[in-house]
Amino acid sequence: MTLAANRLNGEAAALSPAKETIPSYSNEINKVKETVIARSPYEIAQEQFFYAADKLCLDDGLREILSVPQRELKVNFPVRLDDGRIKVLTGYRVHHNNARGPVKGGIRYHPNVSMDEVRALAMWMTWKCAVVNIPYGGAKGGVVIDATQYSQRELERLTRRFTTEISILIGPETDIPAPDVATNPQTMAWIMDTYSMHRGKGITGVVTGKPINTGGSLGRVEATGRGVSVSAREAAKTIDLPLAGTRVVVQGFGNVGSVSARLMHELGCKVVAVSDVYAGLYNPKGIDIPALLAYTRTTPNNTILGYPEAEAISNLEVLTLPCDILIPAALENQLTEQNANQVQARLIVEGANGPTAPEADHIFRDRGILLVPDILANAGGVTVSYFEWVQDRQAFFWTEEEINRKLVDVMANSFAQVYSISQREKTDMRTAAYLLAIGRVADATSIRGIYP
Ligand code: NAD
Repeated sequence: MTLAANRLNGEAAALSPAKETIPSYSNEINKVKETVIARSPYEIAQEQFFYAADKLCLDDGLREILSVPQRELKVNFPVRLDDGRIKVLTGYRVHHNNARGPVKGGIRYHPNVSMDEVRALAMWMTWKCAVVNIPYGGAKGGVVIDATQYSQRELERLTRRFTTEISILIGPETDIPAPDVATNPQTMAWIMDTYSMHRGKGITGVVTGKPINTGGSLGRVEATGRGVSVSAREAAKTIDLPLAGTRVVVQGFGNVGSVSARLMHELGCKVVAVSDVYAGLYNPKGIDIPALLAYTRTTPNNTILGYPEAEAISNLEVLTLPCDILIPAALENQLTEQNANQVQARLIVEGANGPTAPEADHIFRDRGILLVPDILANAGGVTVSYFEWVQDRQAFFWTEEEINRKLVDVMANSFAQVYSISQREKTDMRTAAYLLAIGRVADATSIRGIYP
């Protein structure tokens, strides 16, 4: 190390506070990974696209355009840790397609982030925005880290540096990030502030999912879970499943999972099991979700681990428990050929992106299990992100009641459209959602034409 570098590291160490020790979840993730089939989410996303493109008899040129991302950026960037050391991190930002408007998509902090994962998530964002008919294309980003191993000051520094690295792509009229796994409103505030500092003025519309006092929208934190609960309610009607007393299982207890569980509980359902990366909980009589939420506010990393009013089970077991509605709200590739036959739910509502492998999709189709796909079920988040962006642009903010009403309208209308395509085409809901989405994006792409 050079003298100058030594001095820099020493100065940083002197300034840094001691870091709180928090358990890593990387080991838990690896354990879970070993039990599911290794399959690239990008391969899955392409397979889903080609399946629907065949049904649409999509023109060869359009197939080629839409099957790959438009733009991909990989960055390796240094971050100074609290103990003075420098660590080089890797991050990605991918744009899939911008034919219908600026691209939009979350930023994920997770050890399993890879270019292929970000490509898949960007592609799903394009279809998701098209299904709910909001004027955006799809993007996604991520940094390869276990966020639980970084202090708040380190997270702030790495977020600001990553923002600077990807600032050649992001902007309120080009690419608007939002929260995803292990990022939150605070992360979005840092991104917005960094971008604004570079431009010498506040630019709130560069990012959504911000805290309310920095141009955020009421209802955004709950929006994805609210959309999931509306999808579940609409889907339950189609199979004559009354919600009162209906048994619900939720995998993942973060932003999407915990809000979905709370809203299903409020709709009168009995949430019998939930899980997070550390643990699973089962109580056939129903878990008191407000009490569990209060408990998670007292635990490290807000885990459900150790909650006393339920039986502790493994987090993979929750997927195959007796229940009526299953809401996977954690990560990709959780429902696979290995466990799809053991799933007991009548209805699956995908809160997470890509939780179901195509083999499992076929099994659910054959078993007559109704599945509301991610690109429809979890579109509530991007819908309220769109509302936030519109409010920022007009500098005029709506009431929470107005936002929730508009969100419920978008979700219920989109569900009805996809359901009617599935009935008309005698196909499953995922294929129907793809037919609707790809049709809209292909149409925009061909009307705009190929430049030059
Ligand atoms: P989050 O970081 O808030 O929560 C993730 C949760 O999943 C945590 O409780 C974590 O412990 C749990 N988890 C991780 N691995 C697990 C495993 N193997 N088994 C059980 N639980 C596990 O993230 P989030 O924002 O809630 O995102 C969850 C999913 O929803 C992701 O697929 C994300 O892309 C998708 N999604 C999020 C939004 C949004 O607005 N945040 C919108 C649309 C889709």
